[in-house]
This record gives sequence, C-alpha cells and structure tokens, in this order.
Amino acid sequence: MPFVSVNPASEKVVAEYPAHTPEQVDQALETASVAFQKWKVASFADRAQLMVRAAELLESEVPVVGELMTSEMGKTFASAKGEAMKCAMTMRYFAEHTETMLKEQSVATSGSRSGVRFDPTGVIFAVMPWNFPLWQVIRMAAPTIMAGNVVVFKHASNVPGCAKYLEDLFLRSGFSPGVMTNVFVEHGRVSSIIGDPRVVGVTLTGSERAGRSVAELAGTNLKKCVLELGGSDPFVVGASADMDAAVPMAVTARIQNNGQACIAAKRFIVVRERSEEFLEKFATAMSAVRLGDPMDPATGLGPLVSKSQRDELATQVSSSIAAGAVALTGGEMPGGTGFYYPATVLTNVPANSRAGCEELFGPVAVVYVADDLDEAIRVANDTPWGLGGSIWAKDDHEINEAIARLDVGLVFANAIVASMPELPFGGTKLSGFGRELSAFGAREFTNAKSFFVA
Ligand code: NAP
Repeated sequence: MPFVSVNPASEKVVAEYPAHTPEQVDQALETASVAFQKWKVASFADRAQLMVRAAELLESEVPVVGELMTSEMGKTFASAKGEAMKCAMTMRYFAEHTETMLKEQSVATSGSRSGVRFDPTGVIFAVMPWNFPLWQVIRMAAPTIMAGNVVVFKHASNVPGCAKYLEDLFLRSGFSPGVMTNVFVEHGRVSSIIGDPRVVGVTLTGSERAGRSVAELAGTNLKKCVLELGGSDPFVVGASADMDAAVPMAVTARIQNNGQACIAAKRFIVVRERSEEFLEKFATAMSAVRLGDPMDPATGLGPLVSKSQRDELATQVSSSIAAGAVALTGGEMPGGTGFYYPATVLTNVPANSRAGCEELFGPVAVVYVADDLDEAIRVANDTPWGLGGSIWAKDDHEINEAIARLDVGLVFANAIVASMPELPFGGTKLSGFGRELSAFGAREFTNAKSFFVA
C-alpha cells in the first residue's frame, strides 16, 4: 500500500510514496547500525556543527516546508512556519547544550575516582504522529542524535512528505546515511522492527491504543521505551484570575493546531464566583473564531486532519448533547469541501457522556464550574490522563496550590502549556512515561554507566 497524503482543506491527493519493502527496511537498519559505530565516537563539536547546519538549512526553507505541513495535515500556514522555526531553534539549543547535559559526573565514594558517564546506546526506533509533523520528530531526534545515538523513524502514514523532508534535511546537511532514517511502513509492521536486535530503544508519540501496543512489544523484547500519549489538560480559572488575559488564552489553548494538540487545554474548570463572566466571554470569543482555508492569514481555525477524525469528533459532540450537554456555540458540522469543524463550547456535560470521559482531539471545549479552588483541582485530577495543566490567577497562593497539587507532567501559570527545549516534557498516568527535551530527554536513551576506581 502506498503512503498517500490528502489535503484536508481540498480533499485532494497531494502525493503518494511507495511503502518500503522488508529488504529496504532491513538495509535501513543495517545502515543505521553501521553509522552508529562512527557516530558514537564523534565529538560533541562535530555533531553540533552538523546539527547547526541542519538548523540553518531548515530556517532557509521555512515557507516551503510550512506549505508542505499545511497541505498534508491542515494546520494554518502561520503555525506551520512557527513550528519549523521552533525546530531550528531546538536543534541549535541541543547543539549547544548537550555536551554539558551529558558531562561525566564525579561522585564521592570510598574509591579513588568514581562517578557516572552517559554513553550512547545505539539505534533508537521512533513511531511519530502527524499533528506536529516536524516538531514531534525533531524534539525526540535532536537530543537523541546529539547524545550519540542514531534514529530510525516511522512517521504517521498521512504525512509522508514531511517524513521524507526530515530524512533529506539531515542528509543534505552532511549527516552520514543511517544517522536519521525514515522508513515508510504501516503500523502493523513495527513489531518486526522493535524485535530486531539492531534496535536498542523505542519511543512512540501518539494515542493510548498505539502506546499500549508499542509498550507491549518493547516489554516482550526487553527494550527501553518512552511513551508520549494523550491528554485532557485542565485550564483552571481561579478566583483572582485576570479574565481579560485568561479568555483570549483559553481560546488559543483550545484551537491551537486546529484543536489537535496533546497539550491543548480540553477541560476548562472555573470557580463559581467567576463562572458567569468566563462562560459569557469565552463563548463569545470562541464563536468569533474564523474557520477556513489554512493558507489564508485571516483564518483562525483550519480543517481537521481527516474525514474520520472530523466525523469522530462530531459524533463525540452529538452523542454528548443527546445525553444532556449544552452547546453554547458550535456543535454543528458545516457542509462543503474540507474536513472542517467549528470552535465549540459545551457545558452541563454528563460525566459518563463521551465528552465527559474521552479526549476531544479537535476544537471542542468542555467547561465545568467548581465551588472553589479545592474542588477545581479535584475535578482537574479526576481523569485517567496527566499530561499538562494550567492555572489562571493573580494570587500566589492559588498558583502555588495548582503547581503542587495538579497531577500532571507540566504545570503552567498564566501561560498556555507548551513544550520548550529547556524543560522536560512528558506525562503521568495514561499520558505515558519517560521525558523528552532538556537534560532528562537527552539522557533517556543513554547508558548511565557507573564507574569506580579502587
Ligand atoms: P495514533 O493513531 O496513535 O498514531 C501515532 C503513530 O502511531 C502513527 O505513526 C501511527 O501509525 C502509529 N500507530 C497507530 N497505531 C499503532 C499500533 N497499534 N502500533 C504501533 N504504532 C501504531 O495517534 P494519532 O491519532 O495520529 O494522534 C493523536 C493522539 O496522539 C492523541 O491522543 C494525542 O493526544 C496524542 N499525542 C500525544 C503527544 C505527546 O507528546 N504526549 C503529542 C502528540 C499527539 P499509522 O499512521 O501508520 O497508523
């Protein structure tokens, strides 16, 4: 089966790429394994020089690769260009900082010399999602490669152009073949790659369903595994919130990337004394979001990635409304070409309805009212996921309570939850395990090797 990308705005086929044969995949793993022998002993300075060259090349191609992303998965052209720039910035960051992050640590013991080294381990296999088609791959690959490992990645099957672009970017920048390799394989074929003895570690960013499957394969094969899975992030509005600042950010937090971000705010939990004001302003602002062509700079919300994703979201909403939820705005699927769905706000959502217990991967916000901050935090934590969460408050006590008590991997106060190279990224509970970015991410696929000299 070829890999086909379909433009979600026009519903037209963008391009097709043939799947790799088993022999091609075997050759890719062999090339990666050979490349590792040289790459692991390359100096940080040599690795950094190539990484910076790749960042420069990417920066020079932002509009081209931005248009490619928009055509394959529908994000607005402005956000696609921003994503490419963030990738380049992150490649520069790890080019500059990985050596310090992985510096040998001296530890005092009874020996004459002892400590910990962080040695590269080998070929890391990555299964990647389509929603940030450049960023998800780069945030895993830049630290992993700078640490001296090599990467073989299987991208989501609907963004083959981005997958090919990334592999070519590294080759054109002077990296040896095998340091960063794309394989066009369907997800049914990942088990043979995870089981291959040349692969030493596995990472997946994607759904809980895919995470369970990859974790099982990694477990059976006793391979290190990192999982970045779904979330239903809370956006907690405290009594002291600056509402004029919080409301526009609430809209952005929900509709960013056309609502398809793991760390998008999905549940908005407002203390009762501020709830009327929030609901009115938020519903008004969400109803003003302009839905349309993602290449048009005036567009706030482009299409969802595919017909199946859009139809699934529409069903989640309609069944929840049938169960008693109320749509303050949106909630109806537009006709015409393109996989569009409007910005939607739901209230009175029954806990056992689909919107009450499932991740909504599109521009649909669920608003809950809590008696006070204690109850808001309890509702925020009442979910199987624990990726990110934000608190909107002027009062330090409210901020500190949320930072300490939200059961998530990332808490942001008066800012939208975001990934950044300096801070570790990852979740708790069903949102996965392991970390990307920062020194934590750079060390994930290294061998923390203790040494002791008597
Ligand atoms: P998905 O269906 O799990 O796809 C993600 C990747 O996993 C794709 O490459 C896909 O390949 C592969 N895959 C799917 N089923 C698999 C299986 N059974 N075994 C092995 N690989 C499998 O996820 P999605 O619907 O594209 O992405 C949305 C989900 O990802 C949401 O839950 C979102 O929250 C989560 N996500 C999490 C993060 C994070 O950092 N925590 C970031 C982005 C997205 P095919 O394309 O060939 O099916």
